[in-house]
Amino acid sequence: MIGAGPAGMTAAYQLCKEGHHVTVYEADNAVGGMAKTIKLWGQKVDLGPHRFFSNEKRINEVWLEVVGRNFSMVDRLTRIYYKKKFFHYPLKPMDALFNLGIFEAMRCVLSYFVYAIFLKVKDPRTFEAWVKGRFGKRLYEIFFKTYSEKLWGIKCDELDADFAAQRIKKLSLFGAVWNALMQGRGNKHKTLVDQFAYPHGGTGAVYEAMADFLRSRDCDVLFETPIRGVHCEGNRVLGVVLQDDHIEPFDEVISTMPLNHLVNSLPNLPQPVAQAVDSLKFRNTLLVFLEVDSQNLFPDNWVYVHSSDLECGRVTNFRNWTKDIVGESTKTILCLEYWANFDESLWQMSNDELINLAKKEILMTGLIGNSVVTNGCVRRIPRSYPIYESGYTKTLSIVVEHLKSIEGLTPIGRYGSFKYNNQDHSILMGILAAENLTKNANYDLWNINTDDDYQEEATITETGLFPGRKFET
Ligand SMILES: Cc1cc2nc3c(=O)[nH]c(=O)nc-3n(C[C@H](O)[C@H](O)[C@H](O)COP(=O)(O)OP(=O)(O)OC[C@H]3O[C@@H](n4cnc5c(N)ncnc54)[C@H](O)[C@@H]3O)c2cc1C
Repeated sequence: MIGAGPAGMTAAYQLCKEGHHVTVYEADNAVGGMAKTIKLWGQKVDLGPHRFFSNEKRINEVWLEVVGRNFSMVDRLTRIYYKKKFFHYPLKPMDALFNLGIFEAMRCVLSYFVYAIFLKVKDPRTFEAWVKGRFGKRLYEIFFKTYSEKLWGIKCDELDADFAAQRIKKLSLFGAVWNALMQGRGNKHKTLVDQFAYPHGGTGAVYEAMADFLRSRDCDVLFETPIRGVHCEGNRVLGVVLQDDHIEPFDEVISTMPLNHLVNSLPNLPQPVAQAVDSLKFRNTLLVFLEVDSQNLFPDNWVYVHSSDLECGRVTNFRNWTKDIVGESTKTILCLEYWANFDESLWQMSNDELINLAKKEILMTGLIGNSVVTNGCVRRIPRSYPIYESGYTKTLSIVVEHLKSIEGLTPIGRYGSFKYNNQDHSILMGILAAENLTKNANYDLWNINTDDDYQEEATITETGLFPGRKFET
């Protein structure tokens, strides 16, 4: 197993339960990948906000099996910061109307109808066309454009519609309005998640518990052991190659390392495949944690920053998750997220410069008032977002076809399969990868989308698994 993130750990856990011997190689010094929890200034924090949510029974069963009763339900409050105002997200019509003002709100509605009736593109190829068709130009400009362009570093008309289809497909203007109107009328139908299960000890506790299970079954989880690539003979993978070129033999290799690194390690790579994999790009995340000397800053779990005068894209307030990660501390840890490519000045800034930038920007939002920042810390996550550049699916399919011709190798995960996975998607990939190997199942792991085909639906609530769909994302 290459990588101890949610995908790798889940696959290893499932295989180990079936009695197979697994070795996990992890480049970092802890499990959890991007969903790990770290200790900071006497508290615990995740690498950015990590809300676990799924309607898929298999995913939730595994999660509950590992976490047991050691979780709490967290009420979700998230808002959008735009032009010095805070909009509830998911949008609430009255709140949006109040914040936008009647004139701007009417512009939004008008623009919605113009696009719905006259300008809707039948088969939108880009994110911009997809969102405008669904929400109109004005709402697109206010609620989607700036944030998406900060995140992806490319214009929305260069971003593939796949991103919108994967992440916001169930949300529509009417859906949001209907949801808001029905709230408070005893109607239990909720179209947007307003509560989520969060493990005691942070989101990474899930993967730490999986690692404990593996060790109890004499399976190794090896830290600081980055894998260079896989060892092949012909089109059969026979093991993994360590940094010192030592080869460890294995019958099967599941890889969650970045897809481009894996593919570039393969022998006799055909030129079109090498070219295709080179043109798949990832975007990096910079996390700036600030410790603030206050306990009651603002009520949100996180705030999306849409204003274009700030480089920051999101602010998380870890004090509003669960008490156990805060411990005895009387201070609040915030995390400001920035996104950048390797060659951008933001990525090249020193940690001190980034902390100063974050301090300046958090003051500009008004979120911390006059409270004092007592500490700062930076974590860099390279290649955290696979960029869905327009037409990327064609390029990816060239790589996938080649990988399918190689036996004994299963690439999964966010890095590993170039898919904008949340934890639930990566957990599902882990479950199904293990079933392909142990139960002779034949899941096409390149086509996994948890939002489309639920084998059976169930949601986690405070009393455990709730059969059927309680919420939609
Ligand atoms: C800021 C941020 C916020 C997020 N918020 C949420 C959220 O709210 N909800 C949610 O569900 N998900 C969220 N996610 C996504 C979630 O973190 C990922 O979906 C999940 O971690 C992906 O798991 P993975 O195993 O596929 O990949 P990863 O977590 O990336 O794990 C891959 C692992 O492989 C290791 N590795 C890489 N190369 C090598 C190598 N050569 N040799 C050995 N090991 C290697 C890495 O160190 C890493 O540990 C967020 C992510 C970020 C960055």
